[in-house]
Amino acid sequence: MYQPKSLHEIRIYHSKIIMSTLRQNGLMTKNDLALKTGLSLSSVTNILKILTDRNLVTLGDKIDSYAGRPATYIVPVLDAVYAVGIEVSQYSVRFVLMNLGEPILDRKKYDVVFENTEAYWDRIRDWLEDFIDSNNIDRSKLGGVVLATRLTVRSDDRIGTIPVLLDRSTEIIDTEAICKKFDSYNFDVTLNTKIAGAIYGLWESKDLPNYVYLSVDSTIGGCVVRNYESVNIFDLSDNFGHMIVHPGGYHCSCGRTGCLETQCTETGLYKRLGYSNVNEFFSDLKAGNERCVARWKEYLDDICIALNNLYMAYDMDIVIGGSMAQYLDKYRDEIEQRVFRDYNLFPVSKKLIFGHNGEYAAAIGAAAVVIEKFIARKIS
Ligand SMILES: [Zn+2]
Repeated sequence: MYQPKSLHEIRIYHSKIIMSTLRQNGLMTKNDLALKTGLSLSSVTNILKILTDRNLVTLGDKIDSYAGRPATYIVPVLDAVYAVGIEVSQYSVRFVLMNLGEPILDRKKYDVVFENTEAYWDRIRDWLEDFIDSNNIDRSKLGGVVLATRLTVRSDDRIGTIPVLLDRSTEIIDTEAICKKFDSYNFDVTLNTKIAGAIYGLWESKDLPNYVYLSVDSTIGGCVVRNYESVNIFDLSDNFGHMIVHPGGYHCSCGRTGCLETQCTETGLYKRLGYSNVNEFFSDLKAGNERCVARWKEYLDDICIALNNLYMAYDMDIVIGGSMAQYLDKYRDEIEQRVFRDYNLFPVSKKLIFGHNGEYAAAIGAAAVVIEKFIARKIS
């Protein structure tokens, strides 16, 4: 559980809570903020004074209040900072642009196979340059750029030469060289995709302090978040992908068969039937293609076992991110039924949350890191 240690840390922590509450709920008054965050009215007043002084919020229109004096809306200064998150994965590079507001300002995906070469990283830098230009961002307001990928090391060993796990291969990338290449963007090295995904979970899950995050993409992983902090990023327990959901199923890289990782990845879904992308699979599924129908039935059986296992083990809400979230969302009722409600044992109060920008989860999480750091720096 996160416990701020000094007054200074408490101030930053409360500032982040207020900024994120404003982001998620839109215009609010001081009273609304106190009610929503559980902070005292005097704490909210103090924090708002600091946030106003640092140009992170302004006072908006006055509204009539039923309780005496008119209240004032608090308005976040949305363009105080811009943040870019990049996710590098085996088959694609994704960019997102955010500011202090709720919607993602822009996103872009390039389908390109990872290559650990100078030319590959140069290409990413050129795309980044185009991405910033095409959005006409005032560069003095670019808070930073964070890159997320599948590192195999802890985040405190980030600088230097580190192995990056991309699907089945382990590549060694020279992060110092990459940092130099991106120096002018306030570049903040790299972040594990799972960590970024979990941060995205916070972004997407609104006010949830506790949940299990499961990313279903070209790989599968996740973590458990308690009190807004991920508690097991580096443990084996985040290897949700290697729970067996289909005994005797497909062979997995871990040496066993039927792991979630091999049964339910996006690529595993369409490639085994010879499709070149997931949309082709779903359009044939919609047209009633028998092989697709059978494969999808198996897929749903397997993923529901995994979700049910997570629910049984943790008894928490589950946030689903990754590129498959948008497709699974269309089968939400059936999945919820199978995960939560086919039991007569106890009443279910938990829910499944399907990420709206699941495919961009890691990139959003990476950009959110820039914003968090910016707020902390402003308050310090
Ligand atoms: Zn496995």
